[in-house]
Amino acid sequence: MGLRSAEQYRQGLGDDRRVFYRGAQVDSVCAHPELALAVEHSALSFDIAGDRPDLAVRNGSSAFYHQPRSVEDLRLRGALIEEVSRRAAGTIVLKEVGSDALFALLRVTTGAEYERAEAFYQRCLDEDLALAVAQTDVKGHRALSPSKQPDPDHYLHIVDTDADSVTVRGAKTHTSFSANADELIVLPTRAMGPDDADYAVSFAIPIATEGLSLYVSPYSAGHRNSFDHPLSSKHKLLESLTVFDNVRIPRDRVFLERNPQNAGPLALAFVDYHRFTAIHYKLPLLDIILGAAHLVADANGIGGAGHVRDKLARLIAWAETVRGLAQLAAVRAREGDRRLWLPDPLTVNIAKHSFAAGYHDAIATLTDLAGGLLATGPGQEDWNAPAIRDVIEKYYAAAVPAEQRIRILNFIADLTARDYGGYQAVLATHAEGSIEAEKLQIARSYDPAGAVNYTRELAGVST
Ligand SMILES: Cc1cc2nc3c(=O)[nH]c(=O)nc-3n(C[C@H](O)[C@H](O)[C@H](O)COP(=O)(O)OP(=O)(O)OC[C@H]3O[C@@H](n4cnc5c(N)ncnc54)[C@H](O)[C@@H]3O)c2cc1C
Repeated sequence: MGLRSAEQYRQGLGDDRRVFYRGAQVDSVCAHPELALAVEHSALSFDIAGDRPDLAVRNGSSAFYHQPRSVEDLRLRGALIEEVSRRAAGTIVLKEVGSDALFALLRVTTGAEYERAEAFYQRCLDEDLALAVAQTDVKGHRALSPSKQPDPDHYLHIVDTDADSVTVRGAKTHTSFSANADELIVLPTRAMGPDDADYAVSFAIPIATEGLSLYVSPYSAGHRNSFDHPLSSKHKLLESLTVFDNVRIPRDRVFLERNPQNAGPLALAFVDYHRFTAIHYKLPLLDIILGAAHLVADANGIGGAGHVRDKLARLIAWAETVRGLAQLAAVRAREGDRRLWLPDPLTVNIAKHSFAAGYHDAIATLTDLAGGLLATGPGQEDWNAPAIRDVIEKYYAAAVPAEQRIRILNFIADLTARDYGGYQAVLATHAEGSIEAEKLQIARSYDPAGAVNYTRELAGVST
């Protein structure tokens, strides 16, 4: 098939998947008034093949699945992810995440498991499938390993095997796109010891598989208009608690079976690609934050003030540091196993950490420049009532007419002060791994020997 249209993608979701949202089972994700927004958001990753074939199509297939074989391939992948995110107002769209997982499987799996991963990769490429990735387990007591949890189902694990299949039970959480993807790739979330063998499992299944249930988070629920919610009325991601109730997986779809040694490397290989994705899909969000800061400063008439110029300069430095590091991560890439090129893990993690650690300060700056109307401003009903609109136009005009100012403020409020703003704040801190996980990878990826030896020499300290 090669490439699917957005319409073929929507049609593919019409199966008997078990999706629950706001207390009820959903008949059709595409027909649901709120969930359909997420489908349209993700459909952008199919539309882009028609709009930007130079970036989004490689050898007649989706470029998202093109295996990186050089620095240039990674640079082009970054450009594609940035471009699709630009159309999605600075958020991840869909195909990025599944392709990150496929590259990790192709790099790390061995023997028959590699052959199955390769066959599955080829199917995804040929049929242009959209994949969600369930890596994060619910994890229970954080200080305990999988096999030491009081409830054994707090990490997904193998409960049975036969000649042709394995059966798994447990739950993953925060699974983005699960309700509107074709298939789900499951990866281990951490390194595992010999006692955790049952938990060292990876596979792929269609979403409409018996025993699989998705409980979708209700954040940003309800109808929202584009005046009050210019961003979140157009873009939505779905995350689920993803429950496996004795789900049988045909063995030809199992990529890791009771192989704890490979659990950690597979988890990390995914993270290395996925954080490269993250730092590219965040780039339009950085532009949005910078653009909004300049617009609101000018709208309030404070663009020339010294403290404002200082704050804008700091925002620019933060945003351009992340952008520069994102580019450097591709430049410093190196060839890994099976000729798959890997973005430089040190640079990727510093970029992701710089973004995440600076995000909350950036939002505080934006809130500061915008003023209190982020919380107390008028809504769409007020604006649509002529007598009230007259009052708003008179009293909320500043350096620009009131309508312009209110629209800029509502945009910023949606991004920072309303529920979608809360979602973005958590996303910045935890998605693609927590800030602490990034620090851990930075420390692991940096070899201090050169710096230590140099300093020893200068200090006259022998080894
Ligand atoms: C919007 C969003 C989308 C996401 N999408 C996906 C997805 O599509 N697929 C997927 O698999 N995951 C996804 N994630 C999950 C994301 O990777 C996790 O949220 C992240 O790894 C943190 O895990 P957690 O939420 O369980 O928090 P926790 O791991 O509980 O972290 C909370 C705090 O505890 C600390 N901590 C945790 N364990 C320990 C320990 N043993 N010792 C000391 N400190 C510890 C952490 O460093 C952190 O400071 C998504 C998350 C978000 C917010």
